[in-house]
Amino acid sequence: MSGCNCEDSTCLEGYENLELKELINEIPLDNSLNEMSEILKAISDPLRLKILYLLKNGELCGCHITSALDKPQSTISHHLVILKKSKLVNWRKEGTWIHFSLANPKLIEQIEDIAGRKDELNDDNQCCCGESEEVVGEENGCGCGSFKVIDYSKTQNPQNPKNKVNDSLLKELEEKSKKLGIVSIGYSKIPQDIFNKNNTLNYSNAIVLTYPIGMDIINEIPSDKAQIFNNYLYAKFGDITYTLSDYLRKEGYETQVAHPMEGLIDLAKLGQETGLGYIGKSGLLISPELGPRLKVSAILTTIENLPFSEENSHKWIKDYCMRCNKCIKACPEKALTENNDILAKTNIDDAKCIGCSQGCTYCIEACPFFEKGYDYVKKKQTKIETKLKKIK
Ligand code: SF4
Ligand code: SF4
Repeated sequence: MSGCNCEDSTCLEGYENLELKELINEIPLDNSLNEMSEILKAISDPLRLKILYLLKNGELCGCHITSALDKPQSTISHHLVILKKSKLVNWRKEGTWIHFSLANPKLIEQIEDIAGRKDELNDDNQCCCGESEEVVGEENGCGCGSFKVIDYSKTQNPQNPKNKVNDSLLKELEEKSKKLGIVSIGYSKIPQDIFNKNNTLNYSNAIVLTYPIGMDIINEIPSDKAQIFNNYLYAKFGDITYTLSDYLRKEGYETQVAHPMEGLIDLAKLGQETGLGYIGKSGLLISPELGPRLKVSAILTTIENLPFSEENSHKWIKDYCMRCNKCIKACPEKALTENNDILAKTNIDDAKCIGCSQGCTYCIEACPFFEKGYDYVKKKQTKIETKLKKIK
């Protein structure tokens, strides 16, 4: 800076100028500058900005963000991971859902200040989204934060729905399901106490579907990459569930989709009600086909004469779990705690579990039903029971 040639009469050459020295001292350290630069990079993407705007009025779950922006789940998840890493958003897990919120409630204001947009927006009295075609809300003005959750159904519920189904249509539904990759399909009435307590459920009869968790997820260690695979799986299985629901609607039946990633209803418990499997200590539905390597979804419907399951032939799994505990030991987050009331939700600490944020599958991998298969474990349990009887 010495030897400065500028024509500013107030310029007192660089380092000799005390004020300039003070200014230089005020520049944060490189570490802080790098951190700031990462934050600015995280903000500098239109889709990520849209996500931040959506969170402006409070917490939203990941599914709502995906629905609102009408983008693939994997895309939204990728951007949420970047916002999370930059500490711009907080997250918390509730059931199978992850909820996001702004780490700093004034973030949008600050971004608008930096971009010099705030005054401009106020002057013009425009919507804060800057996308007027999206703005509705006659009473509230700007529609930001009051978006509608998108239902992926392509067919509307029929005006005059039927409530009885014949065997050939059910057979067709089951064949269609298998072709789409569904592992098993079961039928159950939603227990009355659950139905009465949950006013988001439209119908009390359920068709429950299971879908395999791919080995690509199992083989990946918990990470953002595993989570992207996991989100893709949820999106794919969700689409299949909607396709089958649409099929029933076209045939004249009313339906409501319980998306595999949605906390509309406890799907593992519903799966158990159908007799498709039994809930293990991992909190997962253990099936004869794939052990715990499954996701569960459901189509709720008014169809009254579904072949509802009368009993569950997999109850013995509970007895095996009593002695096993391998999933508990395998959990790196100590999210599973021993509790011999298998159905007790307290077995799983949702806040600690990273299954739906990092694609963790350690409790599945450790489970003998995954490792050795259902038939092997059943034989082992029968042997144990025989021995125990002899001892008595
Ligand atoms: S998914 Fe991972 S963190 Fe969650 S309970 Fe299973 S092993 Fe633990
Ligand atoms: S690992 Fe063992 S205790 Fe856990 S669900 Fe599987 S069988 Fe049950």
